[in-house]
Amino acid sequence: MPDNLKKLAQKALKAGRIVDLPKDHFINGRFLSSQSGEEMESIDPGTGKAFHSFAKGAKADVDLAVAAARNALKGPWIQISPAERSRILWRASQLILQNIDRLAVAETLDSGKPVNESVGDTRGAARAFEYYAGAADKLQGDVFPLPAGYHGYSLHEPIGVTAHIIPWNFPISTTARGVAPALAAGCTIVAKPAEQTPLTALMLADILRQAGLPDGVFNVVTGTGAEAGAPLVAHPDIDHVTFTGSVSTGITVAKSAADNVTRLLLELGGKSPVTVLADCDLEAALQGVMGAIFENAGQICSASSRLVIERSIHAEFMEKLVQRTEALSIGHGLTDPNIGPVNSAEQQDKIVAYLQDAKARGLDILTGGHALKDPDIGTGWFVAPTIIDNLKPDDRICQEEIFGPVLAVQVVDDFDEAVAVANDTAFGLVAGIYTGSMSKAHRYARDIDAGQVYINEYFAGGIEVPFGGNKSSGYGREKGLEALKSYSKLKSVAAKI
Ligand code: ADP
Repeated sequence: MPDNLKKLAQKALKAGRIVDLPKDHFINGRFLSSQSGEEMESIDPGTGKAFHSFAKGAKADVDLAVAAARNALKGPWIQISPAERSRILWRASQLILQNIDRLAVAETLDSGKPVNESVGDTRGAARAFEYYAGAADKLQGDVFPLPAGYHGYSLHEPIGVTAHIIPWNFPISTTARGVAPALAAGCTIVAKPAEQTPLTALMLADILRQAGLPDGVFNVVTGTGAEAGAPLVAHPDIDHVTFTGSVSTGITVAKSAADNVTRLLLELGGKSPVTVLADCDLEAALQGVMGAIFENAGQICSASSRLVIERSIHAEFMEKLVQRTEALSIGHGLTDPNIGPVNSAEQQDKIVAYLQDAKARGLDILTGGHALKDPDIGTGWFVAPTIIDNLKPDDRICQEEIFGPVLAVQVVDDFDEAVAVANDTAFGLVAGIYTGSMSKAHRYARDIDAGQVYINEYFAGGIEVPFGGNKSSGYGREKGLEALKSYSKLKSVAAKI
């Protein structure tokens, strides 16, 4: 850890908080408390203790934020040239980097994740603003080849006011990956961060203001899904909703958005496989599988929660994997362990219920399988990194999203069976493969029903690579130039001249 970050992390760990965190909604360019005056608490998952309180929003706050965004759309924002939009986004990326230590420590206190992962996420957020800064002034249309006497062309117009419902597992990076392309496309925004992790969205609002974003273009309303999220999605002045979260909430959101024919991008859960074939680079595969399931304590939509492995290397691979898993350090996110706490007591309970069920059914748990406390301070919501071997494809451990550090292992006899097993869930977010055969790798990429495929490095790629789900994992694509399509609407113009 760099010195400055280390100092700030240690200070925050000792004090149990950091000073000067935002606590109010950000509406029309300023921080504003809830109309009701109500607040709720932020809890540090590493200690289980409250460290901050923030505004508990409801419909009245959502109405103010949507009105501000609607005014800004037709007011100051449309007057600003695409080139100036680029500069604002670029300045935001620089300001995020200048504030990276504070953002990362706040993110870790709020979410529990190891502070180095928070640094990586914050860097990713800066990169999203940098990437879309380069795109804002390049959204050009086409000319249609009509017969003589006609002229036809297309315009890419901003969709309007977009709502972004953010999950708790990647607060700053999910906010940035939605907000940056929406701003590049000329939209105005109301974001609703998860009630467990509201801080970095509010800090980002302040950064965007410093970067020169006009009042009302980016608004944040904090609070629960039921009280603040639901009225935002149902608001008739919202033109598009980007939702990242669970399948069941996604379905509720889709039904609500349908009432106003509001456009929707859904990034839901996953049960993503990583397939390891006998001809792979074993060391690369071991490293890849460890990161794919244990990063952020497995609380990643695109985590690889299933290992599909060829029988001939199964025993050797599992022995090494278990050894490495048992060597992982566990602790408060601010001490930068390999594995931090899971985000909440509810999340811990949900994961542990799966593990108890697995035990009761006599499944082959190679390591882990239980809850933990911080080994140094005896607090917090931790789950031991867990590997369950030799599972049948229809086992619920292979079919349901657990959203924790739990790896389900499925043993197969050949490549064709690996593809069939990899595809055999209701989800279709991501699939990875480790193999020395480029031919098998690309056959796998062709035959997998998922939004993205990683070859020989799980989580390869960055903001340039479009991301989204198939099947129950959702629809629409974020990241890359594809995301810009989500935030603009095409107008065709045809004229007789
Ligand atoms: P989890 O159950 O793991 O907390 P959710 O999918 O429910 O995940 O939450 C993701 C985001 O959706 C959070 O910001 C949450 O507040 C929000 N949310 C929850 N319920 C609703 C709802 N009915 N309408 C809009 N947003 C919601």
